Amino acid sequence: MSKGSVRKLAVPPISMNEEPQEKEKAICGQCSAEFEKRRRNQKFCSDACRKNAHQKRDGKENPRNSLMSPSKRRENELFFDTNRRIAEDIYTRPPCERFDYVAGMIEAARSGHGKLRALLMNKLLLFPDYDMRGLFHRNCPAAYLTTSQIASVFCGLAWKAEQSVVTIYI
Ligand SMILES: [Zn+2]
Repeated sequence: MSKGSVRKLAVPPISMNEEPQEKEKAICGQCSAEFEKRRRNQKFCSDACRKNAHQKRDGKENPRNSLMSPSKRRENELFFDTNRRIAEDIYTRPPCERFDYVAGMIEAARSGHGKLRALLMNKLLLFPDYDMRGLFHRNCPAAYLTTSQIASVFCGLAWKAEQSVVTIYI
C-alpha cells in the first residue's frame, strides 16, 4: 500500500503503553455508572454516553439538558445519589420488609419531607432513560426500579392488593 492511500484518522489510535496497568475504575460523567477505564483519560462508560454529554455541552435540544447545567450539577448528583441509596436500601432488604420500608418512605413524603417528595415525583426517575444505567441499583435497569418507580408501583398496588403482591413488584 502506498503512503498516499493511507487515510488519516480523525482521532489517533491509542498506543498500548497508554493503557493503565491495572484497570482503573471511574464514574461515568454522563450516566453515573461505575466503569473500568480502557484509557487513562476516559470520562464516559460508553460511546453513547460520550456523545450524549457532548450534545448537551453543545446546547442541542435535549430534554435532559438541565441535568448538566453547571449550577445544578452538584445538586443533581446528590439527588440521583439519594435515589440510588434508597433503592439499594430497599433491594438489599428481605422482600418481607420492603413493604413497611416503602410505606414509611411514602408516609414521610406525604407528611412534608419536601426533598423526598421531589425525588419520588421526579419525571426522570419515574420515566427513566434506560440507557442511564447509573439511575438503577447495580446499574441494572432490567432487574431493578428507581426509587420513584418503586413508590409509584407501591401506590398503585398497595391500597388494592395484598402485601405479598406488592413485594413481588418491588
Ligand atoms: Zn455512562
